[in-house]
Amino acid sequence: MEDLYELYVLDLLDAEQASEIQAHLDDSCDICTSRTYAARTLTSSLASLAPVVEPPRKLRQRVLALAQPRKQSYDWFYAFAAAAVLAVLLFGWGYQQLAAKRSLTIEMAELQRERNALRSAVAILSESDTRTVQFGANQSAAHGRVFVSGNGGVVFVGSQLPELAAGRTFELWLIPRQGNPQPAGLFKANTAGVSVDVLKQPVDTAGIAAVAVSVEPGSGSPQPTTKPILIIPLA
Ligand SMILES: [Zn+2]
Repeated sequence: MEDLYELYVLDLLDAEQASEIQAHLDDSCDICTSRTYAARTLTSSLASLAPVVEPPRKLRQRVLALAQPRKQSYDWFYAFAAAAVLAVLLFGWGYQQLAAKRSLTIEMAELQRERNALRSAVAILSESDTRTVQFGANQSAAHGRVFVSGNGGVVFVGSQLPELAAGRTFELWLIPRQGNPQPAGLFKANTAGVSVDVLKQPVDTAGIAAVAVSVEPGSGSPQPTTKPILIIPLA
C-alpha cells in the first residue's frame, strides 16, 4: 500500500482500497497511522505553496511544525484534507485527471514522479535559508514567487504566463552574475493556469543575479533560444 497513502488523504482511492486503509487506522496500525500522517503532512504543505500565501517565515514555521509527530485527530485530518484539495486545485499536477479517471494503477508512475517533485518543493521550502522573491505586481499579468535556497534549490510558482504553442515548453534559467544562463528545468502551466518548476540542487545564491523564463522547443534547450518572457532579479 506504500503508494496509496497520499491518494488516501486526497480522497482519490477507490472505496475498496480506502476502506482497507481506514480499517488499519481504526485498528491503530502503527505503519498506516504514520504513513497517513506523513502523506497528510506532504499534501497539506502543498497548500502553502500557492502563489498567494502568508509571509515565508510563517510558512516555514508551519511546514516545520507539520513535521513534528502528533496525536491523530479526525478534525485535523479533514481540515488538512480540505487544504490538500485546495493544493490540488492550485497545482493540478495530474491529480484532477486521476480523480476523473480513477485509473490509479495506470497513473501511478506519473503520480510518483509528481509526488517526488512535490516532496522536493516542500524540502526546499523548509530549508532555513529559503528566500522568497515576488514578481509581477499586476495580478492580470504574469506573477508569482520564486523560492531560493542555497542548500535546497529553487521553486518557481507562476500564474498567468502566456499560452504556449503546441510542442513548446517553458524553461527556467538561473542567470549568474558572470557567464551563461544555467538550465533549471522545463515546465508547463496546469489546467488552472499555474506553472511550477522545482530545481533540487545546491545553488550558489550569491553568484546568481536573477532567474528567467523563456519559451523553448518541447525538449528544452541548453541555452535560451528566445528572448526571456520573465527576468526576475533575486537581489
Ligand atoms: Zn496498516
